[in-house]
Amino acid sequence: MQKKKIAPRNKTRKIYVGSVPVGGGSLISVQTMTKTDTRDVKSTVRQIKSLQKAGCEIIRIAVPDIEAAKALGSIKKSVSIPVIADIHFDWRLALEAIKQGVDALRINPGNIGATWKVSEVVSAASDRHIPIRIGVNAGSLSKKLLAKYGHPTPEALVESAVEHINILEQLNFREIKVSLKASNIPTTVDAYRLFSRRFRYPLHIGISEAGPSFTGIIKSSVGLGILLAEGIGDTMRVSLSADPSEEIRVAYEILKSLGLRTKGANIISCPTCGRCEIDIRGLASKVESRLKNIDKPITVAVMGCAVNGPGEAREADIGIAGGKGIGLLFRKGKIIKHVEEKELLNELMQEINK
Ligand code: SF4
Repeated sequence: MQKKKIAPRNKTRKIYVGSVPVGGGSLISVQTMTKTDTRDVKSTVRQIKSLQKAGCEIIRIAVPDIEAAKALGSIKKSVSIPVIADIHFDWRLALEAIKQGVDALRINPGNIGATWKVSEVVSAASDRHIPIRIGVNAGSLSKKLLAKYGHPTPEALVESAVEHINILEQLNFREIKVSLKASNIPTTVDAYRLFSRRFRYPLHIGISEAGPSFTGIIKSSVGLGILLAEGIGDTMRVSLSADPSEEIRVAYEILKSLGLRTKGANIISCPTCGRCEIDIRGLASKVESRLKNIDKPITVAVMGCAVNGPGEAREADIGIAGGKGIGLLFRKGKIIKHVEEKELLNELMQEINK
């Protein structure tokens, strides 16, 4: 049976954040932000390295003051993934971040102030081939736009992005990436849709302030899932009030579920029903935890019974189906071995490691 495909990716301009291509059909990159005090170089570097291990491809770092901006050079020298400096308003911080060797900036040119200040930042970014992300956020729209639209509508978000884009284009700068985030999902989705009908600039997608793990994962999966399924999005960040490595894991699961990236295990497990005679919940969570750090793409099924198990999980590379006191090990829907229940997990892992 041919697998159903999602919409083709939107054709956007390709830019580079360090060595990572964004847009133009490149793989959708996964990024997040550090949650340490940027001035604490040691902790920040430690967090970035552990995030990279989890699959983070681009890291964004908040730069609240000049001390944080000056720390970027040491951080940059100690890590191997591209670093984006996240700056609000202060052009001096942007200039210092560029001097310290960052790979990209997130700054809204319309918030910098006097034209000469914007010009200085743009010319420094141009000289070093550093892209700028315009990050429009529903929570920080200008008073003028709020007065015009009443509240942060998709149109207001897009108009805000256009104002920032115009400033950069007037300075002949086009290494631009855009995000249009709101915590409200329909608003965010519509804003990205509207924008991508008009512009080819690559898009950083995300649901702002999505919440703590449980609700945040659901909101991010729904919002980002809709966008990605419509071909919108070139790089993504899941925002959770949780450990940032959780954000990376969730981002990959969303991409994997749509067939946009392959990474590590894709686990299929049945919900169980009255036919189930073994502890599938326990087994599935043990399998998930054992496979948490594997990189090779593999689909593993953990099914409750042999009646429907192997058949339901035909697409799986390997799997188990519970029986009475025993389990069946199967590969691509075909049973290859009978295994005692207590040995199921070990046998499955051995088969995967082969
Ligand atoms: Fe029920 Fe078997 Fe389907 Fe699991 S695989 S839901 S136990 S029928």
